[in-house]
Amino acid sequence: LPHPVVAGADGGLVVQGLSKSFGRQRVLTDVALTVPPRSITAVLGPSGCGKTTMLRILAGFETADAGVVRLAGRELLGPGAWVPPQQRRIGLLPQEGALFPHLTVGGNVGFGLPAGRDRAAAVARWLELVGLPGTESRRPEELSGGMQQRVALARALAADPALILLDEPFSSLDAALRASVREEIAWVLRDAGTTAVLVTHDQGEALSLADTVVLLLDGRVAQIGPPAQLYHRPATLAAAAFVGEIVELAGTARAGRIDSALGHRPARLPVPDGPVVVALRPEQVTLHDAATEGGIRAQVIEHRYFGPDTVIRARLASGEVVAVRSPGYQPVAAGTAVELAVRGDLLAYPAPRAGE
Ligand code: ATP
Repeated sequence: LPHPVVAGADGGLVVQGLSKSFGRQRVLTDVALTVPPRSITAVLGPSGCGKTTMLRILAGFETADAGVVRLAGRELLGPGAWVPPQQRRIGLLPQEGALFPHLTVGGNVGFGLPAGRDRAAAVARWLELVGLPGTESRRPEELSGGMQQRVALARALAADPALILLDEPFSSLDAALRASVREEIAWVLRDAGTTAVLVTHDQGEALSLADTVVLLLDGRVAQIGPPAQLYHRPATLAAAAFVGEIVELAGTARAGRIDSALGHRPARLPVPDGPVVVALRPEQVTLHDAATEGGIRAQVIEHRYFGPDTVIRARLASGEVVAVRSPGYQPVAAGTAVELAVRGDLLAYPAPRAGE
């Protein structure tokens, strides 16, 4: 019986210098990344940044203008090398519609496996691994969207890939289902020891599922690191703005401290002296009644209730507007005078010069 551990994943994925244009439109520029074996890497970026193109190049469905792709020590793409898709040992899990509708669940999972008694046993093992034991004779259309995605994952894993590519695999599911299917699929990938690349525009998905996040902005790698590093120490203002929420304020850096409407505070990252843009996270700010000692005066503009928390927007004396994320229901009326307290050091980046 094939043990449900993806064999051959001992070399991981290496991508170097990958570039791609469609006509005059540059889609990927000099992309480089490494995915260690048995780890999950999320490629995070806004719609249109080139994520799907990158996956299609890895899978062999699209050509590249330049670059090298190696998987488990084998060169799949490079000067003089091109391995066709069916020989790459790469499984692709698309957004939806991965299953053959005319086959049963068992037929789908066993599709690429050699016929015989072992096939039925292997199918049963994989269905058990994805939490759907005994569903062999069901038809895809009888299953929920989340169950269909799990069957598609079982089929992809059954083919014994050295790498699984997941292209926004949860985007067709509704919010409640998405969270649970996401968890289950992450468990299955870890359990099976799979090497995986997950493409998503959802920062929560990338941060919560991946060991490493690759932030792709305008077809370039903006930053690579563990999830907490991307959120806590974004390399650029654009990275801070995409990975989480920020409010931008004007400031001036001097000797590692930042002067702004929030007072005089330490900078979290090294920043050259001079004008900066402060990237304030809403959860860094707390709201108090007016007349708090040392607070920053502000006037409430509006509040929006989200269930677990309320986001309050307030105007500072400088005229700048900040957002405050406050736990629970906080219906503070517009016009109320409040005091704000800021926690921690500040993310700040050199201010773009005029014309930039
Ligand atoms: P989304 O999340 O919206 O799918 P993405 O980050 O996956 O976005 P891609 O699908 O890779 O982005 O597309 C990047 C750019 O390349 C887009 O501007 C797209 O229009 C363009 N593009 C993609 N495929 C082709 C193609 N075959 N021919 C021409 N242009 C293409």
